[in-house]
Amino acid sequence: MLQTKLLCADLYELYDGRVRQFLLLGGEQALLLDTGFAQSHVMEKVRTLTALPVRVLLTHADPDHAGGLEDVARAWVHRKDWGLVRAAAELHPLQEGDEFRCGGWHLHVIEIPGHTRGSVAFADYDRKVLFPGDSVQDGGPIYLFGDHRDLNLYIGSQKKLEAMADRFETIYPCHHACPVTPDFIGKNRRDAEALRAGTLPSEPTPGMPCRTYHGRWTDFYCTEEDRTRP
Ligand SMILES: [Zn+2]
Repeated sequence: MLQTKLLCADLYELYDGRVRQFLLLGGEQALLLDTGFAQSHVMEKVRTLTALPVRVLLTHADPDHAGGLEDVARAWVHRKDWGLVRAAAELHPLQEGDEFRCGGWHLHVIEIPGHTRGSVAFADYDRKVLFPGDSVQDGGPIYLFGDHRDLNLYIGSQKKLEAMADRFETIYPCHHACPVTPDFIGKNRRDAEALRAGTLPSEPTPGMPCRTYHGRWTDFYCTEEDRTRP
């Protein structure tokens, strides 16, 4: 069941208990960040919240973020994640430096490959807000196994965000606790470096082809092969 919460005057959270989307309201259009699982039919809920035209932007194209694309005509997604999209929606590219203005929002696209190769974050520097998709989380697990993910790229992207962490006060992750404070960027980076170094305890993940690695602040789903890939 999709729940909605007004986080501030022009920002809604939509949450099914597993993954959340964000609806940013402007005067003439709205921006929807991610579309959730297909079966959540996020667009139906969005239509109860606004009559404005909605532009859909994806943080990345895992099925819990891109599933709802089957209910939209077009969406903006980083090209490196286009191969993950199963819906027939018309795709437009997102890349570093792209900007989207919407009422009181001014989003900047930051490429943060790692969780997926086409992962991006959306930053509003004036409002000191960051939407990092799945790449910054309190607790996790953060998925880092499989061919379309890359631990080394993830660590590099966390360093990139960490270098600008003082530009943010509020981080809105798609999973688990929300919002979180910017120090979780560095906490996730440190845990990911410990994962790569082989110092995190782990055990097989029930029902999944991976192991659960326990960081100090964050768990990861990964494998020995993915963890040690150069
Ligand atoms: Zn996710």
